[in-house]
Amino acid sequence: MARIVLKFGGTSVADTEKIERAAGKVAREVALGHEVAVIVSAMSGVTNQLVEYCSTVSPTFDTREYDTVVSSGEQVTAGLMAIAIQKLGIEARSWLGWQVPILCSEVHGKARIEDIDASKMLRHLGRGQVAVLAGFQGVTERSRIATLGRGGSDTTAVALAAALGADRCDIYTDVDGVYTTDPRIVKSARKINKISYEEMLELASLGAKVLQTRSVEMAYKRDIPVQVLSSFDEAIGSDLLGTLVTREEDIMEKEVVNGVAYDKSEAKITILNVPDTPGIAAEVFSVLADSEINVDMIVQNVSADGKVTDITFTAPEEDTDKAVDSLKAIDDLKEASIVANKEIVKISVVGIGMVSHAGVAQTMFETLASKGINIQVISTSEIKISVIIDKEYLELAVRALHTAYGLDADAAA
Ligand code: ADP
Ligand code: ASP
Ligand code: MG
Repeated sequence: MARIVLKFGGTSVADTEKIERAAGKVAREVALGHEVAVIVSAMSGVTNQLVEYCSTVSPTFDTREYDTVVSSGEQVTAGLMAIAIQKLGIEARSWLGWQVPILCSEVHGKARIEDIDASKMLRHLGRGQVAVLAGFQGVTERSRIATLGRGGSDTTAVALAAALGADRCDIYTDVDGVYTTDPRIVKSARKINKISYEEMLELASLGAKVLQTRSVEMAYKRDIPVQVLSSFDEAIGSDLLGTLVTREEDIMEKEVVNGVAYDKSEAKITILNVPDTPGIAAEVFSVLADSEINVDMIVQNVSADGKVTDITFTAPEEDTDKAVDSLKAIDDLKEASIVANKEIVKISVVGIGMVSHAGVAQTMFETLASKGINIQVISTSEIKISVIIDKEYLELAVRALHTAYGLDADAAA
């Protein structure tokens, strides 16, 4: 007997028929003698609709009320999933975040899970009851509902697996695993059987939305084996057919480049004519931090004349106006001009083997050059290289890099 956590994403619970199908998988795990906790997302499209309702009523909505609204999608699916499981003759009950409770930080809209008191749920599991928990939500110390950021049900699942001391956390979605790149863009993308936490963390944070970044962070920290698998295949998690996210030392074959990710959600902002004096970068980025803008890549040019320079950075696209406005308010930037470009995409290649291999960057730059794609910004770390290019070349670049690093399914065969 094992204790397992199963998470079903939006497309896996998109209608009542799919919920019943997912309940069937839960029943098969129960029949194997496992203790099972289930996390559900809202039906696909529902959270987007709820977000839109809030923006329609007021673009400057109170984020605490936003959380009340957007957390409601998961409440519906949790109840329906419990009913569907009961219909199969298995005892089940739904749990909302506050009922567990899942204690979250006060950062509404992107709260962090701070603590889960799983004792009550454990007693119910011990009596053979399936627990169905609404993903994406928790409760703050002030008794307000908080949500965990888009894709947050993955994090609920991993956090609950840690709190329950679960043996496995299975993430059911609309693809049968983690691929070398988004299989919707590159048809020849290859399924990865085992991937290290480090690589998965990079892929997720660089745009591969198959797992929320924080869920991978938590799995890494707490050493929770996470498996990504398809809810539309016959197989269940106990058959172990998806992608296992696990420790690096458990992986025999280490690829130089294991994946290509893209992120369309950022904008590039350039400040031209910045006075080249000590402290200016500190001022710019502390103003941005005070406005709660998460800056990603940063480039500053060497000034040719020792007087002025340019600073370029990337930040979430939705924060572009806020960023530009707060920069315009800086006295020292009176003579500067600020240019924002939303038509960009960040493309990244990730691989743990990069640490010990030369020429990875060269392959990336040569491949993009051969397609006539201009690189605007470059950044590197031990196991990834990212570039900013024009958004219109996204698909061309991802496909070309996928081929160049020998990741295409036929190339591997
Ligand atoms: P869910 O609703 O189940 O949480 P998501 O839509 O959040 O599902 O995540 C699954 C999607 O992630 C897939 O449909 C796929 O398009 C996308 N994706 C992006 N990069 C990858 C990748 N490297 N491997 C697998 N899926 C990826
Ligand atoms: N329903 C939420 C979203 O769409 C959370 C999730 O599905 O993980 O972002
Ligand atoms: Mg998701």
